[in-house]
Amino acid sequence: MALKIFNTLTRRLETFTPGGIPKERIEDYPPVTIYSCGPTVYSFAHIGNFRTFVFNDFLRRYLKFRGYKVNHAMNITDVDDKTIAGALKEGISLREYTDKYTTIFFEDCKTLNIEPVEHYPRATESIDAMIDIIAQLDKKGLIYEKDGSIYFSIAKFHRYGRLSNVTSMDIKAGARYDADEYTKEDVRDFALWKAPKDNEPYWDTPFGKGRPGWHIECSAMVRKIFGTTIDIHTGGVDLIFPHHENEIAQSEAAYDEPFVRYWIHVEHLLVEGSKMSKSLSNFFTLRDLLDKGYSPRAIRYLLLTAHYRKQLNFTFDGLNQAAQALLRIDNLLARLNDIKHAAALNQQVIDRCNAFITSFTETVDDDLNIAGGIGIFFDFVHDINSMIDANSVSTSDAAYIVDILRKTDTVFGFIFFPEISTINKEEIEALIEERNKARKEKNFAKADSIRDKLLQKGIILQDTKEGTRWIVKS
Ligand SMILES: [Zn+2]
Repeated sequence: MALKIFNTLTRRLETFTPGGIPKERIEDYPPVTIYSCGPTVYSFAHIGNFRTFVFNDFLRRYLKFRGYKVNHAMNITDVDDKTIAGALKEGISLREYTDKYTTIFFEDCKTLNIEPVEHYPRATESIDAMIDIIAQLDKKGLIYEKDGSIYFSIAKFHRYGRLSNVTSMDIKAGARYDADEYTKEDVRDFALWKAPKDNEPYWDTPFGKGRPGWHIECSAMVRKIFGTTIDIHTGGVDLIFPHHENEIAQSEAAYDEPFVRYWIHVEHLLVEGSKMSKSLSNFFTLRDLLDKGYSPRAIRYLLLTAHYRKQLNFTFDGLNQAAQALLRIDNLLARLNDIKHAAALNQQVIDRCNAFITSFTETVDDDLNIAGGIGIFFDFVHDINSMIDANSVSTSDAAYIVDILRKTDTVFGFIFFPEISTINKEEIEALIEERNKARKEKNFAKADSIRDKLLQKGIILQDTKEGTRWIVKS
């Protein structure tokens, strides 16, 4: 089995080889270097943004599930037209303004159970690396100055257009783009460094006062953190052109080595079948959905269910179905926890668990097909329920199955394990024994502290004539 990923650059499904050199075993690969275009911190991120961020999270989780190590960076764009305009409007410093939305972004990620990545570079803290790239490009005669701004001359970079398929025919030599937002098709020289307008923050550089263009940030941060060619670069499909095309142009022209091995792009999210827009009232931030009473688990589940190269239609119906699906998983866990009869492991259970992990891995290995993987997971849930119905699952089988669910949840991140799953039954019985002994010795303080300890783990003790029973707190 080998992981295969569709590479936007080559438009082919390719066997994933971190570092570019095949190894015998996954553990032998160097950590997979990943760079994901992160949020521009001028406002609340919307659920379309979170589709991509949840995908990034799934990608790193799945790589770890497969045994790879990961080294992942996501940038925080904290200087651009929008952040500058927002700070000016509120009359606070750019840093104060962007700090507020950066904090909100991290809170939202936590709510969606998105794992922190290894690096969160900020654009404003990577100016030195940007200056270095511009200096390299200057040496090669690939840039020019106009009205105090520095532009990259794309006509001089012959590989321009490989990622997005724009042809050299489209290139308008000498025409320039100044804003941070671009039209879709119009190929023009882009600003690496911008002359400051009135009231804008600026940095002093060898090229004069100014502030970075948008594209240079990502190239600079990749260079600063990883040094050389990275394995994976991710982003939404809307970033292929011009943002990622321009990143390639700057980085490869400056350092004469490939920028990225695998480009992965996540498709758009639609809401109720339409493109999200404020005028259609179908524009939602994560917090809008939480305010409507939807659970973060259901939102995460729904964002994960479509293949990343397909559009995801986000609907309220879909959110309700997601909640139902999660309930099936919760019910299975409750049933597993209720099993009382002790017996050795049942080979049939072990075989079913192994078969599940194998076919889950085979499916998701095929271009990160998590939608297929979730389908296989629910077949497994169904079969385990049938085994419980047939009384074929003992306490040791149940513990084995819960371990498999935990392993799977390192990828999913949406299974809720009630406390009981983390304390094994032998441990509970031993504590009850200890408590009974304490009570006999009239050490009631100790007995009470044991009862409280169990209660914290969701176990309620009932003292009956027949002895002490325990139940799981509902
Ligand atoms: Zn970027």
